[in-house]
Amino acid sequence: MIPRVVILARPQFDAAHQQFLDAFSDDGTLTWRQDANATPAERLVEFAGRVCYMSFGERQSPRTNSEYIRNLIQNGHESVLEHAVWSFGIVGVSRAFSHQLVRHRIGFSFSQLSQQYHDESEANFIAPRGLDDYPQSKAAWVKAVAAARTAYKALLRDMSSAADHNFSPRPEQMRFLRTAARSVLPNATATALVMSANARSLRHLFQVRGDIIGDVEMRLFSTELFKIVQPEGPALFSGFRVQEYEDGLPILSHES
Ligand SMILES: Cc1cc2nc3c(=O)[nH]c(=O)nc-3n(C[C@H](O)[C@H](O)[C@H](O)COP(=O)(O)OP(=O)(O)OC[C@H]3O[C@@H](n4cnc5c(N)ncnc54)[C@H](O)[C@@H]3O)c2cc1C
Repeated sequence: MIPRVVILARPQFDAAHQQFLDAFSDDGTLTWRQDANATPAERLVEFAGRVCYMSFGERQSPRTNSEYIRNLIQNGHESVLEHAVWSFGIVGVSRAFSHQLVRHRIGFSFSQLSQQYHDESEANFIAPRGLDDYPQSKAAWVKAVAAARTAYKALLRDMSSAADHNFSPRPEQMRFLRTAARSVLPNATATALVMSANARSLRHLFQVRGDIIGDVEMRLFSTELFKIVQPEGPALFSGFRVQEYEDGLPILSHES
């Protein structure tokens, strides 16, 4: 299964920026010539960058938006990129993958399907890419995840009927049972997340995760994420390129 990523929310840029400039300078000389080709995310970043130097009106250089943003990145003035934030829905990924993803601490927010509140009796399992090429191993894998699911259900059933532990309030009983039952679920268990991240943190993720050849799930996720977010701000995500690796799957390479 290929990781599925959708954009749930994206940056907007509001015309109120002129009110902001008028409030700063009473004489109305501060105006901004916007690049018509820039996306809302790119406009927001350029505007924030220009505020640092108040380079509006006569002080505005003839740079295009993409030249402006490239310059920010080249000069390491990347905090300005943090204003552009997206929220993504992510499914078709394993908990092994999500454990790696949530290690990204800076500029990310995560909300993940709970195995304490959600019954996992019908959980799906994400088979590692390439396993189909090894039929004997694939059969062992299928057997193992089926056994894990059976054990999960048995734990829930047997422990709840024994009911030696009665928790109050009542939902805590379910939390207790599911916590015990989930302990037998494998890393392959499918999960779902909402992830919010800004352009700077996404660039970092792409850089450190996009081209790890042996981590196919992370590689596929990185390329999927890049493909949907790149049109939202081509200048913000410049320097990265989806290529086909020799295994026929995509890889996200970047300029060093
Ligand atoms: C190839 C590879 C192998 C890995 N192997 C392992 C492994 O075996 N075991 C393991 O536990 N993890 C492993 N990781 C995870 C890795 O250590 C990071 O936790 C993960 O990639 C998140 O990266 P990050 O910390 O740069 O990102 P973020 O947490 O998003 O941080 C972004 C940047 O902010 C700065 N920053 C964040 N926090 C601090 C801080 N406390 N102090 C100073 N600067 C900070 C750093 O510059 C950092 O690069 C691996 C990652 C990769 C890519």
